[in-house]
Amino acid sequence: MLKGKTALVTGSTSGIGLGYARALAAEGANITINGFGDAAAIEAERTRIEKDFGVRVFYSPADMTKPDEIADMVRKTEQTFGSLDILINNAGIQFVSPVEEFPIDKWNQIIAINLSAAFHAIRAAVPGMKNRKWGRIISTASAHSLVASPFKAAYVSAKHGIAGLTKTVALELATFGVTVNCISPGYVWTPLVEKQIPDTMKARNMTAEQVKRDVLLAAQPTKEFVTVEEVAALAVYLCSDAAKAITGANLSIDGGWTAA
Ligand code: NAD
Repeated sequence: MLKGKTALVTGSTSGIGLGYARALAAEGANITINGFGDAAAIEAERTRIEKDFGVRVFYSPADMTKPDEIADMVRKTEQTFGSLDILINNAGIQFVSPVEEFPIDKWNQIIAINLSAAFHAIRAAVPGMKNRKWGRIISTASAHSLVASPFKAAYVSAKHGIAGLTKTVALELATFGVTVNCISPGYVWTPLVEKQIPDTMKARNMTAEQVKRDVLLAAQPTKEFVTVEEVAALAVYLCSDAAKAITGANLSIDGGWTAA
C-alpha cells in the first residue's frame, strides 16, 4: 500500500515507534528511524527491517530536544529517499513527581521532546508535503491528551498540547491532501511504562504489582495493556486512502479508559 512512500518515525529505536516503523515497512515504505540506544542494537534493528520487508532504512541520531537536528533529519530523509510523505511524531519521555517538587529541567525536557519536537518536525516536513499534495502527519498523543493523572504535570501538559497542535495544522493543510491526526493510546506495555514503575512505587508507596493493577490498569476497563501492534495498525490505516477524510482527529485506543 505504501510502496514509493517514505516515512520518518521519531523515537523508533524502541516500543511504539519501532512498531510503527516495522508496520509501515511491511506496507512497502522506506523508513527513517530515530532515537537513542546502543549503536550496535540500532544497526541490527535497521538491517532487520530492511531484510524483513525489502525496503531501505536510514537511521538519524537527531536529538529531539534540538530544533536544528530535527530540521536536518527531515532534510536528510528527503535527500536520501526523494521525499518525506509520512511523519510520525512519537519520541516521548515521562517523569513522575508531585508538582511542587517537579524538577524544572525535567519539565523543560518533557515539553521539548513530547511537544516542541513535533512542531519542529512538522514545520520542516510541511513544505514538501504541500508541494506533492499528499502527506500524513500522525503524532502519538496519549489518553493523557484527554484526561489527567496526578504527578504527571509535564507529560499531561505536553500531550494536551499535541492534541491542539494536531487540530491547528489539520485546518491549515486541509485542502492540500495532507491529513494530520493524533493517536491516543492508554497503557501500552513498552520500556517507557516499565521505567515509571519504580518512581510510582515511591510516590504512592506501593509494590510493582500494585502499581500495575491499581494505578496503570485501574483506569483501563479492559484490564489489559494495549499492544504496540494494535497502535501501529491504526497508524497504517490513517496512511491509507480510505482514511483521507480523517483529519484533525484525536483517536483513542485505550481499552475504554477515556469513556469513563
Ligand atoms: P519508549 O521509551 O519505548 O520509546 C521512546 C523512544 O523515544 C525511544 O526510541 C527513545 O530513544 C526515543 N527518545 C527519547 N528521547 C529522545 C530524544 N531526546 N531524541 C530522540 N529520541 C528520543 O516509549 P514508548 O512507550 O514506545 O512511547 C512512545 C510514545 O508513545 C511516547 O510519545 C509516549 O508518550 C507515547 N505513549 C506511550 C504509552 C505507553 O503506555 N507506553 C501510552 C500513551 C502514549
